[in-house]
Amino acid sequence: MSTGTTRALRLTGWGSPPVLTETARPSPTGEEVLIEVEAASLCRSDLHVIDAPPGALPYRIPFTLGHEVAGRVLEHGPLATGPAIGARVVVYGPWGCGSCARCAAGAENYCDRRAALDADRVGTGAGLGRDGGMADLMLVPSGRLLVPVGDLAAAQAAPLSDAGLTACHAVSTVRRVLDGEGASVVVLGIGGLGHLAVQILRATTTAQVLAVDVREEALALADECGAHFSTLLRADTPAVLRDRMGGVGAAAVLDFVGASSTLEAAVDVLRPAGELAVVGSGGGELLVRKPGVLPPGARISLPFWGTLPELKSVVALALEGSLRVRVEEFPLSGATEAIAGLRSGGVRGRAVLIPD
Ligand code: ZN
Ligand code: ZN
Repeated sequence: MSTGTTRALRLTGWGSPPVLTETARPSPTGEEVLIEVEAASLCRSDLHVIDAPPGALPYRIPFTLGHEVAGRVLEHGPLATGPAIGARVVVYGPWGCGSCARCAAGAENYCDRRAALDADRVGTGAGLGRDGGMADLMLVPSGRLLVPVGDLAAAQAAPLSDAGLTACHAVSTVRRVLDGEGASVVVLGIGGLGHLAVQILRATTTAQVLAVDVREEALALADECGAHFSTLLRADTPAVLRDRMGGVGAAAVLDFVGASSTLEAAVDVLRPAGELAVVGSGGGELLVRKPGVLPPGARISLPFWGTLPELKSVVALALEGSLRVRVEEFPLSGATEAIAGLRSGGVRGRAVLIPD
């Protein structure tokens, strides 16, 4: 890395692949904090952004990709607060207005001014319309968006900011019903988020955790992560799960796929007054009608990303050894291969880019 320029993986045109380009070295102003990136992980959301046709997303281009970022604080703007220079941190990715009641409470994922920000095409957060961390250096708007990670490996820390945080927030959303005696929770989709949800559920609840996926290797991963039971998604899966739950339905279902097939299974196994959290954007539809397919008293939520306090708790779980992300590392210069691998399903675990 030379002093005058730095590398960044930039989206320069809608529908065209991102390019690793030399850009001017950013310098923090105002409240900004400059981070030396140690790791930035790739996610399916990045593919949605890369593949988006013009006009589909409320973002201006060009911008640098990367919303799951860990690194070291390198430089403070004159008004910056937060972790000291040299601190190792993970970046909280959803960036709201920073001043509404939701943002003040650390829930920038649910910023009350989101619609206005989108109308102004300000971007949703790091790497999502604003410069992210698939780069040597990253400018973060404020120190409030940084969470210290101590000596946690960067490749572990980066995915916590979305895969870990979103899984944690989904669990928080349904936690209310998981404390009861003998409560069961079904996790649909044991991928980047699902395998972390299983670990978070085991570490923070007493519920029986049942994992479902269409791939045998995903079930093996669920078992490694501590699932009490795992099974392939088939026509008889709801019956198999009900049997396993002693004939009672699931207190909660976390659907990390959100396809028609998983939503059907979800409503089929849900207990009366159960909680269904639809996390995945798989395009499935669910008809809400009374009476209908949903059991009486059912509650449905559409959790999105997570809050700053939840990111802190996810980092704490990882530091105490209760949360381990499965990752595959790539050099930043090999971003194109990593993206192709994610697209083809060839990456095992979270693909993490390491500046080289
Ligand atoms: Zn992500
Ligand atoms: Zn806000």
